[in-house]
Amino acid sequence: MSSKVNPFEIAQHQLDDAAKILGLSPAMHAFLREPMRELHFTIPVQMDDGSYQTFQGFRVQYNDARGPAKGGIRFHPDETIDTVRALSAWMTWKTAVVDIPLGGGKGGVVCDPHSLSQTELERLSRGYMRRVAYFIGAEKDVPAPDVYTTPQIMTWMLDEYETIMGRHVPGVITGKPVPMFGSLGRGDATARGGLYTVREAAKVLGCDLMGAPVAVQGFGNVGGWAARLGYDMGMKIVAVSDVSGGLHNPNGLNIPAISAHAERHPKKLIEGYREDGATAITNNELLELPVLVLVPAALENVITAENADRIKGKIIAELANGPTTPEADEILFKKGAYVIPDFLCNAGGVTVSYFEQVQNAYNFYWPLEEVQARLEEKMTTAFRAVHEMADLHKTHNRLAAYLVSVKRVADAVATRGWVK
Ligand code: GLU
Repeated sequence: MSSKVNPFEIAQHQLDDAAKILGLSPAMHAFLREPMRELHFTIPVQMDDGSYQTFQGFRVQYNDARGPAKGGIRFHPDETIDTVRALSAWMTWKTAVVDIPLGGGKGGVVCDPHSLSQTELERLSRGYMRRVAYFIGAEKDVPAPDVYTTPQIMTWMLDEYETIMGRHVPGVITGKPVPMFGSLGRGDATARGGLYTVREAAKVLGCDLMGAPVAVQGFGNVGGWAARLGYDMGMKIVAVSDVSGGLHNPNGLNIPAISAHAERHPKKLIEGYREDGATAITNNELLELPVLVLVPAALENVITAENADRIKGKIIAELANGPTTPEADEILFKKGAYVIPDFLCNAGGVTVSYFEQVQNAYNFYWPLEEVQARLEEKMTTAFRAVHEMADLHKTHNRLAAYLVSVKRVADAVATRGWVK
């Protein structure tokens, strides 16, 4: 991520454009521009060698007019309060675009999880929960996994929360492993949901996805699954990458073999994988490949005014949060690229998180087919609402998605009588 671009300023700028078209009152606009609540704290952790380190943590509840705040917790060395603010704003628009009864929140810890042992990671995760336990809750604010946080981390956090509260509250956190009351289908939900929107985009553009060249940036939980599911659907995945670099094979990569390699790698990376016909490329080169579908599935601000003109993907499926800057959006729109904006494209994760909460509340669990059918219905309905809005206003899909979501949130805020 470029240090020059502040993601929260981008999120505010995107809202400003929507507020103008929707004709929001200045008071409503001002209210929606800022998070409702923030918690900043320190987490002291004893390291394996007996020494102590203090980590910085955040939890932001951006808006809860439509329901409890909802959103993941990131463990990342570059985490800042402004990144968490931006991500919590995007969660607010994300839950609104798929029309689930939740608001938006996000959390983060400034740390490098790859340099921590499992026991240090556990102590950090439990320490995080000790700080936020009384700030969050199944009916207040519900965390989940995000960059570098896992179902195991969710379990440690749940266990800490339940120990503090002295009762079982499985719905306080989602993205849990299935035996710990997670939902079937949550693991690949973000990627699967995104691929439903890619399928819908291909339909409106009249493109065939069978054998179509696809490049995926990021090979973590989201990008790795996107490559795997895309491959299974018959797409030709010509490039993948992660922090260790990228691989390119114009004839299509062997994705199951790459997944198996990353699974065995101590840091879950594609580093060291070799295959006939595949050459090394950088993360930046991957973005500029001649593909039908480009899937940025890593971090923020990778498509900027500097490289947008060289992007050749016809469909840009933003599985990452905030991969494209506003200047790049305009360039891509003028070039005729079809961007499926982040908070629509990657809403599958939070949608199945919501299903997980529903199942936790009823203490009754659905079969995988039911989860996937409901996910498909939510994603395709949201896609159509955004596509129709873009057609109506002759604008790009990101602004259209904002128009759909901001209106829903503003209506809830106004109906509650907070701001008119
Ligand atoms: N971290 C994911 C996101 O950005 C999922 C959030 C959730 O499940 O609450 O959408």
